[in-house]
Amino acid sequence: MDLELLIAARDLLENITPLKTNCGLLCGGACCEADEDGQGGVLLFPGEAELLREEKWMRVLPSPMPVGGTDYGLMVCEGRCERGMRPLGCRIFPLTPVRSGNGPWKVRTDRRAWAMCPLMSSGVRGLSPEFVAAVKEAIRLIGSDPEGERFLLAWQELEAGYADSPFLL
Ligand code: SF4
Ligand code: SF4
Repeated sequence: MDLELLIAARDLLENITPLKTNCGLLCGGACCEADEDGQGGVLLFPGEAELLREEKWMRVLPSPMPVGGTDYGLMVCEGRCERGMRPLGCRIFPLTPVRSGNGPWKVRTDRRAWAMCPLMSSGVRGLSPEFVAAVKEAIRLIGSDPEGERFLLAWQELEAGYADSPFLL
């Protein structure tokens, strides 16, 4: 993965958040809370484990989603981080990359977010347009790299395995 693309994608979402106000006030920062077993985690994009390896507030565990035999790592934190170093997976939440065939990468709400994110019921239109545009551009940058593209395809396949909405269970 071209690290300059990864860094550019991360930079796009340095200060832009899902809402113009702090959405963490709606839910107590639910997406940063560890699961009941103290685990949970965020999939690291190709090259991110290298960028973050000095950070003391996180650990990198084996990823549940190796791509072509490569393990990019799963970040586990304690619900606090140095904001400027948070992973790209945190920055794009609650959106997820999606592509149909060989078409362009788009974004939609991430099925895995239904469990904790109150923004899900409003859909993409309920999010800040600047945030949605920045996530789209970040995903476009990642997808322009062959290794990044393989990672996004694996991410899409993994995410597609989750239920679309708790109301459909
Ligand atoms: S769970 Fe949703 S509303 Fe809450 S902090 Fe995370 S993105 Fe914002
Ligand atoms: S790295 Fe930061 S933003 Fe990501 S889950 Fe941990 S505390 Fe939340």
